[in-house]
Amino acid sequence: MSEKILVVEDEPSLSDALEYNLRQQGYDVVVANDGANAIRTARAEKPDLILLDIMLPQIDGIEVCRTLRPETMSPIVMLTALDDEIDRVVGLEVGADDYIAKPFSMRELMARVKAHLRRTRIFEEHMEESLQNASARTIDIETRTFGDLVIDVDGRRVMCRGEWFHLKPMEFELLAFFAKHHGIALSREQLLQQVWGWDYTAGSRTVDVHVRWLREKIEEDPAEPVRIVTVRGVGYRFDG
Ligand code: CA
Repeated sequence: MSEKILVVEDEPSLSDALEYNLRQQGYDVVVANDGANAIRTARAEKPDLILLDIMLPQIDGIEVCRTLRPETMSPIVMLTALDDEIDRVVGLEVGADDYIAKPFSMRELMARVKAHLRRTRIFEEHMEESLQNASARTIDIETRTFGDLVIDVDGRRVMCRGEWFHLKPMEFELLAFFAKHHGIALSREQLLQQVWGWDYTAGSRTVDVHVRWLREKIEEDPAEPVRIVTVRGVGYRFDG
């Protein structure tokens, strides 16, 4: 069964182009052209991924994302037209998994969609497997501990300051990668390649966004990070 993608875009020429290209790649596509319709369609169709424009009539994409985030695990990729929209997506922590700035190349967008869907598949398979194995496995649970931060690799959850919480799939992938490369400075390009599986650098801001989200969760003071530190001219280093 092919994966279903909900395209939310009020500009007909763009939504047509997205629909056409996604269908060419073998995806099922449903389209909504305003926010209210997007919420209704997402609930009825249960898409595997949502491409969500920010500037929409009446209910904007940010509000749509806020509404849908608690209801779905499917990746939400925001389409942003302006730099200050990117800041809003990041700053408001609306729960989007990624964003793509307009104008974008169809090729880049398709690569990202594919990567997100692959991640979700791996994540779901892993969840199923760990549920099946949960009773059989007693001692070989892989965890990594850094002070009051515990990363449960098998359970794909994190404990910080005594509380367990779940991270979004890409946040978890990034943190797990950092933990594996503890103390080593990693460039954005390396992270994009190794964690996201992208071989181009256009998305390096994606790394910054995810680092920012992680810091908000695992740093005592996200403005003065001590766990994930910025290495000038290089990228980031996880100090635990
Ligand atoms: Ca729009």
